[in-house]
Amino acid sequence: MSDISSYAAAGRSRDQDLDPRLAALVRAYPEPTLLLTPAGVVLAGNAAAEAMLGPARIGAPVSLTLRAPEVVEAARDAGIGGASHLVTFNLRVPVERSFEAHVLPIRFDSAAQAARAPDLVMLVFRDLTQAMRVDQMRADFVANASHELRTPLASLAGFIDTLRGPARDDPAMREKFLHIMGEQARRMSRLIDDLLSLSRVEMNVHRPPEAAVDLVPLTAHVRDALSPLARDRGVEIALEALQAPVMVRGERDDLIRLLENLVENALKYGASGKRVEISLKTEGTEAVLSVRDFGPGIAPEHLPRLTERFYRVDVAHSREQGGTGLGLALVKHIAARHRARLMIESEPGKGAVFIVRIPLSTG
Ligand code: ADP
Repeated sequence: MSDISSYAAAGRSRDQDLDPRLAALVRAYPEPTLLLTPAGVVLAGNAAAEAMLGPARIGAPVSLTLRAPEVVEAARDAGIGGASHLVTFNLRVPVERSFEAHVLPIRFDSAAQAARAPDLVMLVFRDLTQAMRVDQMRADFVANASHELRTPLASLAGFIDTLRGPARDDPAMREKFLHIMGEQARRMSRLIDDLLSLSRVEMNVHRPPEAAVDLVPLTAHVRDALSPLARDRGVEIALEALQAPVMVRGERDDLIRLLENLVENALKYGASGKRVEISLKTEGTEAVLSVRDFGPGIAPEHLPRLTERFYRVDVAHSREQGGTGLGLALVKHIAARHRARLMIESEPGKGAVFIVRIPLSTG
């Protein structure tokens, strides 16, 4: 087979006869890549391109391999005039995805004039779908967080105006409004606490905690800490835990937060059931921690979305309870950092149970 320079000389008359070294180079390249003649006939592709587009139709016009007229057009232009292009495009089959294509004219002779038609055209693709999804999530998150803060802020501003104006000389009204304002301020600070905790846990999600934590005293601690709230709500908390230590690798404060969030939710949303059960046991290599309430439960269509940030079944009800919509997102992230699994089961009308399975520490 010819070497690169003789291929260059003979190139365009035998352009489907590709130097195997060029083909090997394309195959080795990690990004999806196609090599074309200047006239747009496919000479070679690599495995990444096959994963993206299906098998390349070698020897056929690129439009048969790649159904993106913008890119085909740019490749034709690069083949004639020798200009490079960056094109973004979507593929709709099998699912909608977004890509960018670098359309690069290749000249074997580096001294050749840029205006001369190239010897080959190389297409290199990059999948933007994931990056765009992350951008969208970030934008949604900022929009949601600002909205959550704006509501109590607007209400605070409103009450300040009322206190300055109509309620100025009315001590009873003033007392009432100050009470509501205090609630709103606490809500904003809870929201900020939750946002910061979420971002801290997320940042550490790939660094599993190393400390050994005994879940037995931890569950008792959470039960004690929440017993005033339980009394307020007229709910009895029953704790059923093993006597022997149940050791896991964990971050004590995060695990407390996780359990507190679950028990608090059970007290807030399941109060009508009058009873919340916390249970801790071991099964095989796992600690199984569960929180059960006997309230209204959760309809099945909501279950898959409960751990999304700011998702609530009933926004007004959650706000009344002082909820931020971030509790279960935090639970999910803490569980992920502990390599634990979270399961939610509920039969509407009978209550809900949240189960966390944490790997037991082995040494
Ligand atoms: P919030 O701050 O609103 O409590 P969470 O993320 O902790 O946010 O919970 C999200 C939503 O899940 C709640 O608004 C509520 O609708 C629902 N939910 C959570 N726990 C329970 C439960 N034990 N029973 C019924 N609904 C629940």
